[in-house]
Amino acid sequence: MKRILITFVGVIAMVSGVYCWLNQRNTVPSAPTTQKLQVVTTNSILEDLVHQVGQDRIELYSIVKRGTDPHEYEPQPSDITQATDADVIFHNGLNLETGGNGWFKKLVETSHKKFDEDVFAASDGIKVQHLTTNVKEQDPHAWLDLANGIIYVQNITKVLKDKDPKNAAFYQQNADRYIAKLQKLHTTAQSKFLAIPEQQRLLVTSEGAFKYFGQAYHVQPAYIWEINTESQGTPEQMKAVLAKIRAAKVHSLFVETSVSPKSMDKVAKETGIPVFAKLFTDSLAKKGTTGDTYYTMMKWNIDQIYAGLVTQK
Ligand SMILES: [Zn+2]
Repeated sequence: MKRILITFVGVIAMVSGVYCWLNQRNTVPSAPTTQKLQVVTTNSILEDLVHQVGQDRIELYSIVKRGTDPHEYEPQPSDITQATDADVIFHNGLNLETGGNGWFKKLVETSHKKFDEDVFAASDGIKVQHLTTNVKEQDPHAWLDLANGIIYVQNITKVLKDKDPKNAAFYQQNADRYIAKLQKLHTTAQSKFLAIPEQQRLLVTSEGAFKYFGQAYHVQPAYIWEINTESQGTPEQMKAVLAKIRAAKVHSLFVETSVSPKSMDKVAKETGIPVFAKLFTDSLAKKGTTGDTYYTMMKWNIDQIYAGLVTQK
């Protein structure tokens, strides 16, 4: 009888233990409250802007890798997993990731996310410029004007504060400090280029990514093709850029780090004008090298463009 009783008590204890364990599993939230906000960005420039504000209080994943073109991309399985798990996704908008093969729209659908609920355009509220070859299409390269970069930071900060209010003061403090730094570089750059004779202020690159930059800093952009999603370096495009270069007094050409240098090398050969420097347009440099943050990328571009344009033959 005693043995039966002990066994009975043992069974009861075991059953209630299993019940407690099951019950606990059901009531414990899948995401503990101490977990960091999961943020995904489409490219490395946005990745850095978000990092400047969120620092170590967020988990950050960037989709398009450094040195590659964000206009057209094929999301990898890891990108889909990260986007699905994300609390917030930032994209540039303005026909960047949604132009071309429209990879980003597909990714948003696959990961069951919604625009303006968990997917936000960092460029919201900027004064949009359009392509000259297709005036209905927006030019995405707004970040190349530091004043727009500041708007990006303000938009990012607002979303982070809304989604993670307990860290709101921390995010705002980082944003304020960072915006002051960007503003200083912007003001310096605005007067810098005016010292160069106007005829020399022609900025020749492969893609026409410098419309916003040109307007902000008083240089005239020229390019082989207007946007990376169109055919690049056709005979007509080459002819047009060569005519523009020959009509100006330019002594330097530039090429972007995220495009093939082949076409610009041809322009250099045809004109005898050297490629002065590589510029960062659609991607930051690899981590640990010059231009691996938005600030250093912009500083590098401003300094190199100035040095190239001021050069005399
Ligand atoms: Zn581009």
